[in-house]
Amino acid sequence: MDLYSGYINKLIEELASLPGIGNKSAQRLAFYLVHLPKERVARFTDAILEAKEHVRYCAECYTLTDSEICPICANKNRDHETIMVVENTRDLAAYEKTGKYDGVYHVLHGAISPMLGVGPNDIKLKELMLRLQKEVKEVIIATNSSLEGETTAMYISKLIKPTGIKVTRIASGVPVGGDLEYIDEVTLLRALEGRVEL
Ligand code: ZN
Repeated sequence: MDLYSGYINKLIEELASLPGIGNKSAQRLAFYLVHLPKERVARFTDAILEAKEHVRYCAECYTLTDSEICPICANKNRDHETIMVVENTRDLAAYEKTGKYDGVYHVLHGAISPMLGVGPNDIKLKELMLRLQKEVKEVIIATNSSLEGETTAMYISKLIKPTGIKVTRIASGVPVGGDLEYIDEVTLLRALEGRVEL
């Protein structure tokens, strides 16, 4: 039985397809949206479309940015010879929030997962190896401590080892399976400072 109009149903369906939004939240949001003034809705949809149109990968570190090179990579005061490898832009943001890391990043956009059929070629790994042809003194692997994150860390360290570049892994203490973005800054700093050479 259709309780709502077809348009509402379609809106609920779209909202419910977003990560972290269950059916109940989707319904609540759908009704909230249809009650908003039209200009507010237009601002909202414009923001989505504009982000979609203008956001791209940084040519160096592959984080999401508005320009060719992201502000971190463009910053000459950062240590460009230390690269921290993270799974996604949200993890990068979590480390940036600590304000204590002055190296640069490399964003993989995923992690290796044989179970989900995600292989080394499906993440920005080749791009990382290309960067290592420049002067690099340390690669800090800060992938999550989930099975996928650990698999990825192991794979990357095996790949880099022969180059002679120092490879370190952030200390555990980051909860297993925990998304880095939900971890407080103190824990992140401790994980970074306690990193061990692989
Ligand atoms: Zn960048």
